[in-house]
Amino acid sequence: MPMNRFCIFLVSIAACACQACGHKAETRPQASPAPTASSTSSITPAEFSADSAMVFIQEQVDMGPRVPGTAAHQRCADYLALQLQRFGADVMQQEAVARRYDGQQVGIRNIIGSYNPDAKPRIMLCAHWDSRPWADQDEDPRNHRTPIPGANDGASGAGVLLEIARQLHAMQTPRGIDLILFDAEDMGTPQFDDSHPHDETTWCLGSQHWSHAPHRFNYRAQYAILLDMVGAKDARFPREYFSTYFAASTVEKIWKTGQRLGYDRYFIDQESSPLTDDHYFINTIANIPCIDIVHYNPDTPTGFGSYWHTLNDNMDNIDLQTLQAVGTTVLTSILN
Ligand SMILES: [Zn+2]
Repeated sequence: MPMNRFCIFLVSIAACACQACGHKAETRPQASPAPTASSTSSITPAEFSADSAMVFIQEQVDMGPRVPGTAAHQRCADYLALQLQRFGADVMQQEAVARRYDGQQVGIRNIIGSYNPDAKPRIMLCAHWDSRPWADQDEDPRNHRTPIPGANDGASGAGVLLEIARQLHAMQTPRGIDLILFDAEDMGTPQFDDSHPHDETTWCLGSQHWSHAPHRFNYRAQYAILLDMVGAKDARFPREYFSTYFAASTVEKIWKTGQRLGYDRYFIDQESSPLTDDHYFINTIANIPCIDIVHYNPDTPTGFGSYWHTLNDNMDNIDLQTLQAVGTTVLTSILN
């Protein structure tokens, strides 16, 4: 995903946070000052290998579209769980049956890798790992019912998290950190289907399930960071509306860190419209302040890349520099 909520903004605000508009001005952080030479030099970047993240993305994409109900989906879930285990995490899998937009039942798997499961406070990093079953934004209507490769939309976030797991293992961190890979984020009602409602709850099925029933009873995290579509060459990450509304201080911390590390062309001081993504449900159901680092560009027709939800969401769009910027910023932020 995510889905641009320009058109459903009013409906969703009424449904979940009717005070959002009224509080908008108060909750928005002040624009960050431009990075200075002294602030840039005062921060030590965490180790993060973009090459390694790239391999993790390629390996997911090579399995084929990760659509719930398919063999590739099962294979990829096993792969992700095994990788987290290899990197020293305590791995739990949450299996459930979810209901798709059309009522069809689908088996889903959320995969959780925990470091120091009893340590407090906890920080949660998450991404979705499934890929969209329909290329419903493809310019050729004949492709609309074909699943997308999902290199950026899905595999990039999971790939960055696997590399973060590898680094956390190498440094033997004492911190309490949970990496959560959500399933079935991208099964929202396809554009071509006019016979079913285009409701935001048809998206993010895995995170909705987890938010109602987290992997540990009474699970709390100080804050959470969602990564979605974090690998494209032309990536830019404005401050997404719900992120600022629910977790302004975390937005401030991450964007400032990115800018101090010299990644200001990605972590831009601009606000973007509200997006339906996993963080929305983590905020509103689980009550954990969660931000979304998500590629969004209001100057494009969809707000996302031209390859978004098309058969062109492939490895050609994935860029080492973007992965480096995102991985280094997130890891440096949570370790400081
Ligand atoms: Zn998507």
